[in-house]
Amino acid sequence: MAVLPTPTAFDATVPVAIIGGGACGLVAGLATAAKGAEVVILERDAVPQGSTALSSGLIPACGSAVQRSQGIDDSVGTMSGDILAKAHHETDKAMVEALCEQSSKTIDWLNAEHGLEFSVLDAFLYPGHRVHRMHGTPARTGTDLIGRLTQAVEAAGIPIVTEAHVTDLFADPSGTITGLRYERPDGSAETLGCQALILACNGFGGNPDMVRELIPDMADANYFGHVGNQGDAIRWGRDLGADMADLGSFQGHGSVAQPHGILISWALMMEGAIQVNLEGRRFSNEHTGYSEQARRVIHQPEATAWNIFDERLHALGMDFEDFRQAKAAGAVGEASSVEELAAVCGLPADALQETLSEAERLAKDQATDGFGRAFLKPALRPPYYAVRVTGAVFHTQGGLVVGPDARVKRPDGSVLPNLFAGGGAARGLSGPDDWGYLSGNGLLTAITLGHIAGERAAEQAAEGQVLEGQVLEGQVLEGQAGEVQA
Ligand SMILES: Cc1cc2nc3c(=O)[nH]c(=O)nc-3n(C[C@H](O)[C@H](O)[C@H](O)COP(=O)(O)OP(=O)(O)OC[C@H]3O[C@@H](n4cnc5c(N)ncnc54)[C@H](O)[C@@H]3O)c2cc1C
Repeated sequence: MAVLPTPTAFDATVPVAIIGGGACGLVAGLATAAKGAEVVILERDAVPQGSTALSSGLIPACGSAVQRSQGIDDSVGTMSGDILAKAHHETDKAMVEALCEQSSKTIDWLNAEHGLEFSVLDAFLYPGHRVHRMHGTPARTGTDLIGRLTQAVEAAGIPIVTEAHVTDLFADPSGTITGLRYERPDGSAETLGCQALILACNGFGGNPDMVRELIPDMADANYFGHVGNQGDAIRWGRDLGADMADLGSFQGHGSVAQPHGILISWALMMEGAIQVNLEGRRFSNEHTGYSEQARRVIHQPEATAWNIFDERLHALGMDFEDFRQAKAAGAVGEASSVEELAAVCGLPADALQETLSEAERLAKDQATDGFGRAFLKPALRPPYYAVRVTGAVFHTQGGLVVGPDARVKRPDGSVLPNLFAGGGAARGLSGPDDWGYLSGNGLLTAITLGHIAGERAAEQAAEGQVLEGQVLEGQVLEGQAGEVQA
């Protein structure tokens, strides 16, 4: 994993190369092609999936056509206000506003041009969002999202070179990227020259050494994202002298069923569920956010909590594919009384009774508890349901500092000549730590920066700004339209 001097020749050349075939890379590919530039996406896996496939596939956007059609009033000011408030204003306000502004353009474009069929989830609000703005494809899953994006890329005739693990970049002394080297599963290597490069290879959550270095207290936490995300963008960025920020920031989640490893939607918590520890006691305001809840759960005895809910919330859970899988896997316990619930969960019955009685009183009084949670939903009623959960790291939020044009910056504010980044490879909008993550910040930066990076990279390649006087040898790599190359 290095940045090397430009070789005398490349095996092939292409105007725009993209590393990573998740949401960011696929959207960047579509945007590049829409601007008329040839582009190749390189993906280390046999099938493009990334953390995008593991996600719930829900993307926040404001002022989109589907929001309007569903009668939802939203604005850049409201959405950026929500993101900034969650990050305690410890993030780049101009970037937040620029990406909120971009959000509806990208969603509307993906719907109109590429048939993504986004609609807005309006059954509940995720913590910190004042408006229904989570856009999901029909199945409301990350696999549906990545599947539809992959189909769109194939339909556009954009080659995705799969099983292509990019190991090194080539650059000249000015920091201009001239190409890259990728390895095949059989150990062979190929080189590809390019005029502009987009880093869409996410963060470092899959690299335990980097997590230990940059987020030491989460070194032993479960990682729930894509293991192929090894921090390559940051490692190349270090070699290139790029600016980086918020490297200790991450999206966590305090509700991963164990030992099943299945996400239990936080929607249940927002609609009235509670979390108790192995002592049968609540330990936090569950409504501040699921990201910071990961650390809180991990700090409980045996890094464990139980999500407690009732029939009404069980019905809500069944709207989610993940929850249905958890149910099928036997992760969801059921009990007709508090005593039985205590037995099912192995919790002290007296303490659990006290906790549930207190939660019922708070709900009846519409009161706020000592942790600051306002109990505004109906009280929990038997029969009860419970899922044993732990906290996990989902993806890292720190990364390469980019401007609203997705260009990677140096610490002095200047830009690297032809390098772009988006999604988890770039610094997120969540500030310096886990508490700043507002639901959807991950896919928001993936699709908006992917869209912008693709367009800008195509323009740069068309202008031939970078390779003045330099002729790259080798043939242009041509994908077979409509096929993923392996
Ligand atoms: C369980 C879970 C649920 C989530 N739910 C949501 C949600 O509902 N909404 C939301 O906004 N966010 C959510 N997120 C976060 C979201 O998934 C990510 O922020 C988003 O997918 C990042 O997109 P990306 O394109 O940057 O990265 P990815 O989708 O991870 O794609 C990166 C790709 O790069 C490839 N790659 C890496 N290194 C190389 C290399 N050297 N050479 C070639 N290829 C390489 C990887 O194999 C991968 O396919 C969730 C995350 C998880 C884990």
